[in-house]
Amino acid sequence: MKGYLEFLKRSDPEIYEALIGELNREQAKINLIASENYAPPVILKITGSLLTNKYAEGYPGKRYYSGCEFADRVEELARNRAMGLFGSEHANVQPHSGTQANMSVYFSLLKPGDTIMTMDLSSGGHLSHGAKSNFSGKLYRVVHYGVNRETEVLDYDEIRAIAEAERPKLIVAGGSSYSRLIDFEKFRQIADAVQAVLMVDMAHFSGLVAGEAHPSPIPFADVVTSTTHKTLRGPRGGFILARAEHGEKIDASVFPGVQGGPLMNVIAAKAVCFKEATKPKFKRYAQEVVLNARVLADKLASNGLRIVSGGTDTHLFVVDLRPMGITGKEAQEILDSVDINVNMNEIPYDPAPPNITNGIRIGTPAVTTRGMHPEHMDFLGDLITTALEKRHDAMALAKVRSEVQGLARSFPIYHEVSP
Ligand SMILES: *Cc1c(COP(=O)(O)O)cnc(C)c1O
Repeated sequence: MKGYLEFLKRSDPEIYEALIGELNREQAKINLIASENYAPPVILKITGSLLTNKYAEGYPGKRYYSGCEFADRVEELARNRAMGLFGSEHANVQPHSGTQANMSVYFSLLKPGDTIMTMDLSSGGHLSHGAKSNFSGKLYRVVHYGVNRETEVLDYDEIRAIAEAERPKLIVAGGSSYSRLIDFEKFRQIADAVQAVLMVDMAHFSGLVAGEAHPSPIPFADVVTSTTHKTLRGPRGGFILARAEHGEKIDASVFPGVQGGPLMNVIAAKAVCFKEATKPKFKRYAQEVVLNARVLADKLASNGLRIVSGGTDTHLFVVDLRPMGITGKEAQEILDSVDINVNMNEIPYDPAPPNITNGIRIGTPAVTTRGMHPEHMDFLGDLITTALEKRHDAMALAKVRSEVQGLARSFPIYHEVSP
């Protein structure tokens, strides 16, 4: 490993410096971005392994190239582990990302112009759920449901009424910034009432499902999509779980439908990630992620900040900054200046544009991987509050920054890994 860095330093100092810079950045900042995590060293190594060399278009036993015997073994293991971990009848582990997984499902079940029903972006949805700027918003007729304006949680009677009026062919449950449990059984009933297919996008909370810190959508959904790099803490990528009846169509939709050769190095890392997620240690991790989120949300609320929907059941929550008189963009910048990373995020029915917003999203998967416990969430909650409240006081900000740096130093992420 050292050898490669020495080589890179001489042969490509620009990339070398960016890699070292990123390593230092990850170690030095406190990361509360809800979609990020730190992959364990073994995952980093496998993602950088020689499996990147192999073309394995097709599926195990049905490849278009020779020499795929080890690729087949790797993909079989990954598929079987995914099915075992989540209890599903079919798995496709080839999608390069969560968006590719969603695209493959849409292409396998829908025709252009069909109606899909999804959660709107400001309520917590995702771009790949029909945003105008995304392929999904261009190819399909999109109708949205959202959270109730008062409670800021999903209203299943309203979702049912929209479904009955609009007759979607596909209903999508799940999102990127909805902090509450989703009632998958109710979604199943709604889908059945209008003869729609139910897809659950668990990109964010799949690690919590694996660790039994969140209900599983598998018994209720026809198809489930996910990423592997968020709460699951694996390599950057996606996968699809489905009832057996949809398996063949979905496989054909991933390849040759929307992708070429699979990233076998990433699929091997996914296999290891699925195995890690069956261990008691991972279950403890998932439980602690949720506990940490609840403690941090409670702390901020007790400091007077407004948490959307009043709290969280998951690994994330959204803070409404309007009472503080700052925008999401400003809060993101203030917190970045004290070495805390969050992302600006729309609040439900946000009147501000998406590149300004009135909220920030906060998540605990990364800090929990770092080893932080509820008492550190209390401490962080006070630091965040002070930074936002005293944003015009340079001395106060400098003090917060030095506390944040001290906290980061006491929780090193990687001990021996080169970037
Ligand atoms: C993150 C996310 C995705 C997509 O993930 P990418 O790997 O970035 O394409 C899809 N759906 C939801 C709900 C997400 O949060």
